[in-house]
Amino acid sequence: MILTIVLFAVAPLSLAIAGDGSYKGPVFDTHLHYSKEAWPVYLPKDVLEKMDLAKVKSALVSSTPDSGTEKLLAVAPQRLVPGLRPYRTPTEKVRWYRSQDMVAYSQARLKTLRHKAFGEVILWFAQDLETPQMLQYLDLAAEQNMVMHLHTNSRVVEALFKMRPGLKVLWAHAGFDEPPDVIARMLDQYPNLSAELSYRAEHIMGADDVEPEWKELLVRHADRFTVGSDTWENDRWSIYKYLIDQHREWLGKLPDKVAQKIAYENARTLFME
Ligand SMILES: [Zn+2]
Repeated sequence: MILTIVLFAVAPLSLAIAGDGSYKGPVFDTHLHYSKEAWPVYLPKDVLEKMDLAKVKSALVSSTPDSGTEKLLAVAPQRLVPGLRPYRTPTEKVRWYRSQDMVAYSQARLKTLRHKAFGEVILWFAQDLETPQMLQYLDLAAEQNMVMHLHTNSRVVEALFKMRPGLKVLWAHAGFDEPPDVIARMLDQYPNLSAELSYRAEHIMGADDVEPEWKELLVRHADRFTVGSDTWENDRWSIYKYLIDQHREWLGKLPDKVAQKIAYENARTLFME
């Protein structure tokens, strides 16, 4: 217990990032969750304070359940873009694409908020794109012009575009562990694909500069990347500013115009225009 408290107390110090040369402009966080676990610890006003402290101007937010997103939107409707998550509890993330009751819940929630994205949802196997429920979700996304925010691998993204080439996809974590050459190939091949870089700062940033293959990719596809925090658990909320500062560090190593697009403008184009 004492050890836990000590670790918690020193964590923010050890997580400090040398700020010189980091990107100082606005950030659009395209991977925010305000799920039930966070509600008793961080009130909506606390979340906004964290965003202000990290100089996060806008965010795409999805929550388990969706009423978390509604609570946040109530206090800052002009700064937040709602994404529709079909999970009501964390355990539903393994069955959302084959449960009719969750389709009904999603349809009902769509009448409550004007969601601009569907997800973030997790999907690991291309065959799960073909369940009757998944086809209903894909129809909903197309009808409502929602961006699919998918935590998945390149095979599922390929299968999805084969089925529905007109959908827009925001690829969560750029596939999480997909390497830069695979991400490059996917962006070359699918014009409706964008990639969001939460959990990737440590891959992108080397000892004192952006890794060369990442730099080439980020500059070449400067219109297709966004950044995010992924506050899926309270531990991530407790280090929110650090998560954003990690992105600011590598963004500061890129040409200004490229950094501005990736940090803010691409997400604004995707969700606010
Ligand atoms: Zn997430």
